[in-house]
Amino acid sequence: MKRDDQTGLAISGNKVRKLEFLFGEAFASGADCVITGGAAQSNHCRQTAAAAAQLGMECHLALGGEEPDRFQGNLLLDRLLGAHLHWCGEDRKGERIPALVEQLRERGKTPYVIPYGGSNGTGALGLVDAVRELQDQHQAQALPAFTHVVFASSSGGTHAGLLAGCSLLRTDYQLIGIGIDKEDMGGEPLSAVIVRLADEVLYRLDAAATSVAAVTLEMRYAEPGYGVVGDVEREALSLVAATKGILLDPVYTGRAMGGLLDLIRNRRLTSEHTVLFWHAGGTPALFSSAHLPCSAATS
Ligand SMILES: *Cc1c(COP(=O)(O)O)cnc(C)c1O
Repeated sequence: MKRDDQTGLAISGNKVRKLEFLFGEAFASGADCVITGGAAQSNHCRQTAAAAAQLGMECHLALGGEEPDRFQGNLLLDRLLGAHLHWCGEDRKGERIPALVEQLRERGKTPYVIPYGGSNGTGALGLVDAVRELQDQHQAQALPAFTHVVFASSSGGTHAGLLAGCSLLRTDYQLIGIGIDKEDMGGEPLSAVIVRLADEVLYRLDAAATSVAAVTLEMRYAEPGYGVVGDVEREALSLVAATKGILLDPVYTGRAMGGLLDLIRNRRLTSEHTVLFWHAGGTPALFSSAHLPCSAATS
């Protein structure tokens, strides 16, 4: 398992990798605040708030839903980290960012926009670097060769960055993204977003001639809808916690691990394969899921 739940910024996650590059660009552009958006329990928004706090930048978050009575999980942290929260009802993918940017400009601010999930050509660069990091760790620890890398894929940046990194470094494992959100990204299918972003990353790295491998995306586990916790997620969360002492999250890594277990049961992946699971974080969302029935051990 690759532990991006240990990237080290206010309970961590994969967005830290993207934000390293996005904040670099924000400062270079002369911005005095950043704005991004997501669901109320967005890990991306919480990591953006944490990075902003550490770097002394004002942070605005466009969050889905209405202001709740109780602030839990990521939301509790957003507030603690000093982010300005804007409640956006049905719009949970940053749809209202342009309007909020106008308002901030009218107040004399210079905002830098971080897209939904931090997924653009800049953010995805962080995942190219992650492929190199994995390669270094793989060599240093003399691990067996992986045949597959399995991870949660949602706004496209992680998948695109990994694909671009794998092409550049000529790795020979197959990437399998487990789709989390069945809705298209602004009308564009996720696989198309991923290819577009991966090409953009390669272009920015002066490697436009490098082509990326075909996108492997398992969308069937996304069918119940974004954030809906069912048996697939519950089994994965309980199994990995109780047998490994590792915490997954209910929305992303729980679904991705549930998908991996299903691929094993269906013999798509067998003992002939060596699989790396890329844990992208999300831990704080567990603490907004007190209703999650856990399979308690019997005495
Ligand atoms: C954002 C996120 C993902 C998905 O990453 P994308 O780049 O949006 O595809 C997966 N797992 C967790 C915990 C996340 O926060």
